[in-house]
Amino acid sequence: MKALVKKESREGLWLEDVAEPEIGINDVLVKIARTAICGTDVHIYEWDQWARKTIKTPLVIGHEFVGTVARTGENVSDYKPGDLVSGEGHVVCGRCRNCLAGRRHLCKDPRGIGIDRDGAFAEYLSLPVTNVWYCDKAIPTDVLSCFDPLGNAVHTAGTYNVVGEDVLITGAGPIGCMATAVARQIGARYIVVTDVNPYRLEMAKKMGASLTVDVRTDSIEGAQKKLGMKEGFDVGMEMSGSPDALRGMLGNMAHGGKIALLGLLPSTEIDWDFVVFNGLTITGIYGRKMYETWYKVTMLIQSGLDIEPVITHRFGYADFEAGFEAMRSGQSGKVILNWTN
Ligand SMILES: [Zn+2]
Repeated sequence: MKALVKKESREGLWLEDVAEPEIGINDVLVKIARTAICGTDVHIYEWDQWARKTIKTPLVIGHEFVGTVARTGENVSDYKPGDLVSGEGHVVCGRCRNCLAGRRHLCKDPRGIGIDRDGAFAEYLSLPVTNVWYCDKAIPTDVLSCFDPLGNAVHTAGTYNVVGEDVLITGAGPIGCMATAVARQIGARYIVVTDVNPYRLEMAKKMGASLTVDVRTDSIEGAQKKLGMKEGFDVGMEMSGSPDALRGMLGNMAHGGKIALLGLLPSTEIDWDFVVFNGLTITGIYGRKMYETWYKVTMLIQSGLDIEPVITHRFGYADFEAGFEAMRSGQSGKVILNWTN
């Protein structure tokens, strides 16, 4: 089968013919229809420091996908060939304290598809049945291929109650933009989104931001003033991984404000006294809840959540270089690869 492989320890990806993956008795073989490119995949493409220390070559990469069941292992009874499925990319141990307590998103030893084991940028993917998510066929295929990052957005936006609250989102990448639409749908009052990329701020506007702020020229304080806010934001979602963005957020929170961190931050100096004196709550968010988040993602789409403005590019898998180029340009939202042509 065709697959996008991290074959060599240098920048790039290679479209290769590789063996179809084997399935065990508890696994499902998925025929991939669409995949979406994640920032993680771009790190692997570029072979940055994180990728070099994390990825063992050769590896089929990719973890955002939708497809149909091709074949199932003999223990699998709840899926049949042809079923439309996506899946959770973290394969958990099932035995640690958190897994046993039903908090699988907090597993001590998760293995990521497309990171620690072969991934979804291929014609076929083998996945444990416990990781497979049955898809509603009424939802567009391209949208289904984005359930993984949309799950990040829903997990983050659902961490704190945003009903009637003022929300600050730093980072207007695809997940920040999807979180904007989610916060809008679940009842936030003002949603201010910051970035340094006008293309992405425009996308955030389409997704329901009350106001967008290009922090190169405007300030979050100015946005508060414009909106007639007096005491700061109730809920913050840090999606950029930028230390400056986090510091800007901290300085604009209401007393007792709550912050969810999704962006991967480098070592960052924080004025901790300020956090203490203002009674701020900060929570790290990783992945999606299994499978509460997947359930909510499906229900939110069924109740009108529209993420299609974030899907900006579509390519056949053979044109993956153009897809990664679009991702790296910053002039893009989600980039979809089609594996059926
Ligand atoms: Zn575990």
